[in-house]
Amino acid sequence: MKTAVVTGAAGFLGSHLTDRLLAEGYRVIGLDNFITGNPANLAHLKDDARFSFIEQDVTLPFADRIDGEVAVVFHFASPASPIDYLELPFETLKVGSYATHNSLDLAKAKGARFLVASTSECYGDPHVHPQKEDYWGNVNSIGPRSVYDEAKRYAEAVTMAYHRYHKVDTKIVRIFNTYGPRMRLRDGRVVPAFIGQALQGQPLTIFGEGTQTRSFCYVSDLIDGIYRLSQSDFHEPVNIGNPVELTIREFAERILRITGLTLPLVNQPLPTDDPKQRRPDITRAKTLLGWEPKVDLETGLKETIAYFKGRLQAENAL
Ligand code: UDP
Repeated sequence: MKTAVVTGAAGFLGSHLTDRLLAEGYRVIGLDNFITGNPANLAHLKDDARFSFIEQDVTLPFADRIDGEVAVVFHFASPASPIDYLELPFETLKVGSYATHNSLDLAKAKGARFLVASTSECYGDPHVHPQKEDYWGNVNSIGPRSVYDEAKRYAEAVTMAYHRYHKVDTKIVRIFNTYGPRMRLRDGRVVPAFIGQALQGQPLTIFGEGTQTRSFCYVSDLIDGIYRLSQSDFHEPVNIGNPVELTIREFAERILRITGLTLPLVNQPLPTDDPKQRRPDITRAKTLLGWEPKVDLETGLKETIAYFKGRLQAENAL
């Protein structure tokens, strides 16, 4: 049985990736320090002998805690919502830099493949639309978002260096906006924010005029793309995301339509450097991996709304 190591295993994406790897027959060692992860995301695995968990801050070296052979290392640990990385600037910088080194060192020592979770934030506030992997981006290196954007760009750089100089078999996925069960209700991102507000009968908070665009990928589609990439021989970045683009105002209206609610939309200030447009060009993923998203927004949002409803009921907030 092959072993996979997943950093950030208690996070939204890390936990779904762990489930997929177990379903594919891997033994999984998950690491997390719960800085933004949640033990509840792994609770269903407590009796699964093929899953083991190590509480660990991966910005500190951890290779000596991993015994035996490892086939693949997935580095998914990081604060990922704008609110989180603004509250955790140094943790975010360190997990993109030190922790990527540590995860690559583990892959190198074990002769394992390596896949790093990068981001569409590498494109910054893009001048090229839709974004293709060969676009170098428009990132403000000193703005408030730079703690995340530049850490992830550094993560890509160090990953390519380990590939070129140490011959590690590396992969880079650039993840676009993703949503689904196990997102944190209060991580500040637009999907949990709007759904939480709608379910509690509150106005939906639109930052700026709501003319900025995003494209939302359902988590099962994203994980499928990432799994396929991990099995490929490709080393340059690959965009994984859903190319259906809509404005944030349209997105708010979609949530209201699906929930059948009538609530006001209120405007709040647009955060500094908030990208005005974002949509992945997924030609590379289609051609290389035979991948494209299958879950439409309505279906994915219904699943996600049901999940958040359950969370709010558990908190007695509904
Ligand atoms: N946004 C919004 N209201 C909210 C939260 C976010 O209008 O309550 C906007 C935000 O300004 C951005 C988009 O929704 O333009 C997506 O924000 P998110 O934080 O989900 O992720 P980003 O794509 O900016 O990383």
